[in-house]
Amino acid sequence: MKGKFPIERLKSLKTPFYYYDTDLLRETLDTINRECSRHEGFCVHYAVKANANPKLLRIIRRAGMGADCVSGGEIEAALAAGFPADKIVYAGVGKSDWEINLGLDSDIACFNVESVPELEVINELAEKKGKKARVAFRINPEVGAHTHANITTGLAENKFGIAIRDMESVIDKAAAMNNVTFVGLHFHIGSQILDMGDFQALCNRINDLQTQLEKRRVIVESINVGGGLGIDYQHPNRVPMADFKAYFDTYAKRLKLRPGQTLHFELGRAVVAPCGTLFARTLYIKEGAVKKFCIVDAGMTDLIRPALYQAYHKIENLSSEEPMETYDVVGPICESSDVFAKQIDLNRCHRGDLIAIRSAGAYGEIMASGYNCRPLPKGYVSEEL
Ligand SMILES: *Cc1c(COP(=O)(O)O)cnc(C)c1O
Repeated sequence: MKGKFPIERLKSLKTPFYYYDTDLLRETLDTINRECSRHEGFCVHYAVKANANPKLLRIIRRAGMGADCVSGGEIEAALAAGFPADKIVYAGVGKSDWEINLGLDSDIACFNVESVPELEVINELAEKKGKKARVAFRINPEVGAHTHANITTGLAENKFGIAIRDMESVIDKAAAMNNVTFVGLHFHIGSQILDMGDFQALCNRINDLQTQLEKRRVIVESINVGGGLGIDYQHPNRVPMADFKAYFDTYAKRLKLRPGQTLHFELGRAVVAPCGTLFARTLYIKEGAVKKFCIVDAGMTDLIRPALYQAYHKIENLSSEEPMETYDVVGPICESSDVFAKQIDLNRCHRGDLIAIRSAGAYGEIMASGYNCRPLPKGYVSEEL
């Protein structure tokens, strides 16, 4: 089964380009809101780094989500799309002064602080402005995730977050500062996580930390568990949406929230990955010494995930119903890692065929680069075609 696309419309566009199915995006947002609202105190922020296309950001904002940003540029993008500042949270190990100042000037909801030196700088910059910054501490929970090594973030060896053993002392430090207010704890264990057991392990860790803090009568207003929910890259047509019910239910069941506490989620991939497709055209079919290559006009500059994380994307030839043949699908970039898939079956390919690289809505367009002096790919949404 192949995906359903407005082929006649798409045929007239210059490849490579991204195409976003906004009906699917809206359905996904509705499902998230429905499943999330079953639970008291749950709220979702969209992780802007997954895709900052302004058209998508506006649709996501209208669905009522907050924004999770990891740079000053993302705060600007979120504000430009109309996200209210009091729904913007800001994480990142290397916040520069202008980025912190932007967050302070905009009165964002919370800085997710990742080190003591960063806390000191936020306090200083806030003092200069006569402001009080709301801060949460990103704790490295030392919880693994069953996903690719490059996208685990919650292990002791990773650069992210504050070590568990420093949690109490950093909360004490904040309490002694005049221009920061401690509001909560933040965690994020990784991305493309399909095993709910990984999120359960995070819940267990947070329960322990909360018990520990309770003994010292520390009030924690909010808990932020980050994002990481994965999608089914193998079956984009049959399973076009992540299992949001299982995800929220896991937290509702395992995480012991205290009365009045809010629980924040930062979903990126699961919101936007399924609705995006990278379209390319076949340039050449090349019979190599040992295999056949389908050379397309999109490359790792347009979608780097396969080269960076050996990520799988389902690929379909939308122009052919001829018998299947086995190809390596490769781009034109002068790098051996510029490969979308090895030894996959496609309907026989010819020059000019329209190729769909599926589930590319997250960490696709936003990671595009100009390497080889290539132009950046355009992004089209279904409702404007
Ligand atoms: C990347 C990131 C997310 C989103 O992760 P997904 O796997 O796309 O859901 C959430 N929070 C933080 C802090 C992140 O860095």
